[in-house]
Amino acid sequence: MEGRGGKDRKVFGKLRKVEVVEYKSGLSVEEVERRYGVKAVKLASNENPYGPTPRVYDVLKKFRSFNTYPKELPELKTAIADYLGVEENRIVLGCGSDGVMESVFKMFVDRGDEVVIPIPTFSYYHTLASVYSAKVVNVERREDYSLNVEGILNAVSDKTKLVIICSPNNPTGNAERVEDVKAIVESVDCPVFIDEAYAEFSDWNMLSLLDYENVIVSRTFSKAFGLANLRVGYGVMHEDLVRYYKSVTPPFPVSTLAQLCALECLRDLDYMLKCVKTIKSERERIYRELKRRDIEVYKSQANFLFMKSPIKAGEFVEELVKRGVIVRDCSNFLGCDDYSVRVSVGKPDENNAFLRALDDLLSNL
Ligand code: PMP
Repeated sequence: MEGRGGKDRKVFGKLRKVEVVEYKSGLSVEEVERRYGVKAVKLASNENPYGPTPRVYDVLKKFRSFNTYPKELPELKTAIADYLGVEENRIVLGCGSDGVMESVFKMFVDRGDEVVIPIPTFSYYHTLASVYSAKVVNVERREDYSLNVEGILNAVSDKTKLVIICSPNNPTGNAERVEDVKAIVESVDCPVFIDEAYAEFSDWNMLSLLDYENVIVSRTFSKAFGLANLRVGYGVMHEDLVRYYKSVTPPFPVSTLAQLCALECLRDLDYMLKCVKTIKSERERIYRELKRRDIEVYKSQANFLFMKSPIKAGEFVEELVKRGVIVRDCSNFLGCDDYSVRVSVGKPDENNAFLRALDDLLSNL
């Protein structure tokens, strides 16, 4: 097309010269069904297979204010504050916890600053660090994927602007020990960002550390509450940081509709707790089933399991996809080996489909 090739390509020369670590989401059910002509289940994005409380659908039906810009709903902040047991004036909202994280980067991270990241972990931290031209200091986790506290403390320098802790950690599933994170928080004078996207699935969390002024915790409605598509995340930080957060965040990060749905989720906590209970019991069942098949699998405090595949992860995932089950190849995650795979916990029949596909694959090895 005239004008889209040749001359106009000059704009490409204007792109920032940063090597951005692109965040890649997994294959979709539709893609797999089109490509392989099989009915597919997706166990690759750590979603809640049951969806949100059905009460959300009543909110959707009633909502009319599509033409006006959103406002922050004070009721949602009050409900979040009650849910976590923190003061309302410490809560901020974001377009998913990804959005919260990006705003925290905007608050603290300048070109040349350092960000300390224990690996393997959620790759969007690396994307953001590259977007904000920061230097990442990766610190390998211990063999059981727990934090190498000493390594982290050694990695922190005057230039460190953020230490990022993900608990429970994606993709390894382990929740960090509170004493480990506390030791880090107490020893550094930079902010420690604790991503608790999967906290509801864990037997413990890091909220007790919110008394430290350098702790920022992010949470989300995307996982246990089943609202991933509506993009509602929130953060808790020192109240004096909140206005800085607001000054860097886009003007309307969360739609009123999404906020109303999130509020409804908090008004029906029993529904979420029931989903979490079922998912945790399925998580333990799949864990046992994998162990029974001599697969190396790790204890998880999240809604997914981290395992080592019997053949290279890329090939393993491809073989499962052909059998209609989408799981995540983690071999390209920093700090993961070639056999690293993550499997989200689905509904029992989806999990059975995974185990059947696995058995079929194992019997053909
Ligand atoms: N943190 C972690 C560790 C995640 O795995 C994810 C989702 N993949 C997110 C944050 C982002 O979640 P959301 O933006 O939907 O809240």
